[in-house]
Amino acid sequence: MSISGECFCGEVKYRIDGKLRDAQSCHCSRCRKVFSSQASAYAIVEAKEFQWVSGEKSLTSYVGKHGFGLQFCSKCGSTLSGVYKGVVHGVTLGCVNGDPEIELGRHIYVGSKASWEVIAEGVPQYEESPPAYA
Ligand SMILES: [Zn+2]
Ligand SMILES: [Zn+2]
Repeated sequence: MSISGECFCGEVKYRIDGKLRDAQSCHCSRCRKVFSSQASAYAIVEAKEFQWVSGEKSLTSYVGKHGFGLQFCSKCGSTLSGVYKGVVHGVTLGCVNGDPEIELGRHIYVGSKASWEVIAEGVPQYEESPPAYA
C-alpha cells in the first residue's frame, strides 16, 4: 500500500510504499512535551519504504543524547517523523493522511499520564513499558 503524510502547512510531504507497524501511544511526561499533546501517537516504518516527496529542506530536527530524534517542519512546527542515527524510524500518526490501515495497539506509561487526561477503554494499557516489547 501507499501512505502519504504532510505537515500542517503542507510544505513537507512524504510517501511510504509499505505498511506502518507497532502503532502505540506513550503517555509519559517526555512524550507529552515532544508531541505537545496528551500522549504520543507513533508508528514504525521501514526506512527503505519511506521517502520525502517535498519540503525536505524545510525540516529541522531535534536529536536527543541517545541518537533518537524528531523531525519537524520549520514553518508550521508539525512533527512528522522520528529518526534514529539519521535514518527515518517512524512517523507521527497525526501527520498521516487518510486511513493508514493501522490502529493504536497499546497505551504505554499510563501510570504517568497527565492528571487531566481520560483514556478511552478498549485498548491494552500498561502502567509503564509493556512486557516483551520488541
Ligand atoms: Zn509545515
Ligand atoms: Zn513516552
